[in-house]
Amino acid sequence: MTSVSTAITLISRSEVGQAASAGTCSPNLAREPWAFDASPMPEYGPGASMHDVAPAATPRQGELPKEYRTASAEDLDRRILNAKEVLGDSVVILGHFYQRDEVVKYADFVGDSYQLARAATERSAAEAIIFCGVHFMAETADMLSTPQQAVILPNLAAGCSMADMADIDSVLECWDQLSDIFGSEPDAAGRQPVIPVTYMNSSAALKGFCGEHGGIVCTSSNAAAVLAWAFERGQRVLFFPDQHLGRNTAKAMGVPLEQMPLWNPRKAWGGTDEQTLRDSRVILWHGFCSVHKRFTVAQIEKARMEFPDVRVIVHPECPMPVVDAADEAGSTDYIRKAIEAAEPGSTFAVGTEITMVNRLAAQHPEHTIFCLDPVICPCSTMYRIHPGYLAWVLEGLLDGRVLNRITVPHSVADPARVALNRMLSVRP
Ligand code: SF4
Repeated sequence: MTSVSTAITLISRSEVGQAASAGTCSPNLAREPWAFDASPMPEYGPGASMHDVAPAATPRQGELPKEYRTASAEDLDRRILNAKEVLGDSVVILGHFYQRDEVVKYADFVGDSYQLARAATERSAAEAIIFCGVHFMAETADMLSTPQQAVILPNLAAGCSMADMADIDSVLECWDQLSDIFGSEPDAAGRQPVIPVTYMNSSAALKGFCGEHGGIVCTSSNAAAVLAWAFERGQRVLFFPDQHLGRNTAKAMGVPLEQMPLWNPRKAWGGTDEQTLRDSRVILWHGFCSVHKRFTVAQIEKARMEFPDVRVIVHPECPMPVVDAADEAGSTDYIRKAIEAAEPGSTFAVGTEITMVNRLAAQHPEHTIFCLDPVICPCSTMYRIHPGYLAWVLEGLLDGRVLNRITVPHSVADPARVALNRMLSVRP
């Protein structure tokens, strides 16, 4: 018991970059984002920002000025704190649960993507909202904030590999093929042939698509209620981009696995066939979170062997066998609250992003908390937000320049808000 909790505490108190070099899913995590850019063979992965090979539509980050690349951690700390003090209430910094500690320590709010977007709307005095998360989160904050507020993503290359797995062109192509099969007329009960449901972890374009086609957005907290809403209005659901959240949620609602075909956008007819689609209740997009798919049943079995009283909680973005083998599955907020409410001395094995697990372990020394995956693997795209980028955008504001503003055009934001508001009308 001691060895695990001690290791976690040590990691959470050290620089993530230093810990990363000790045994992570990628040695690139030990380097700074701009150092990774100089790699002769950059890839879409940890730390990349300027010359990586991310999908074509993914925003690229221009070169960070040298003064921020060469500044010491102490210098960046001093500059960030000074800018925050001078800017006062005119700026609010939001930090996602998965954001690295050396950035999140400057955040005015820490939460999941939806909590943070809502927090932004509650700080109406803030002219600038600096979102230390990933691109789709900043888009959502822009759509929910006022037009006078500028949402800033410190590193434009902080995307989400899962969100990138469903681009609007592929979804439109899929929709056309489904329309060829099902047409667009409702059945005798008034239910549409297909209701599109997008996870919050998707581009604004996909949220807009859902708004325009009678669909809705869901989060990992309300996915079951949203699916129930969709089943009332549709004969079947097209769920994207995360197959695992869709499968885990629908299975728990009693939908048989054979009625949940996978749609692979790289294959003709999604890799399935017309009859299977006709028999379907939920068509699952072939997307996944590269962080959560690392968790395995073997890890859970090992945790149970070493800690017989362990409580295993995993995120519903984990594969179905992992969710089935766990004691509970729930959103980041669910995990946080479950740990807060537990009797002192409890033992938790958690299947979610390592930065959040380490932080929970540090905040709750009364428990033993460890990550199911022994190999440290942070959300590599969120990891691209570095204090250097934060100092750069803050000092830009001091100079009267809004750097890296994320703006969703009205043509996308208006229908996307329709889908978001439908979600808000659903009672979990
Ligand atoms: S943890 Fe996974 S789903 Fe969440 S932002 Fe990172 S890549 Fe995307």
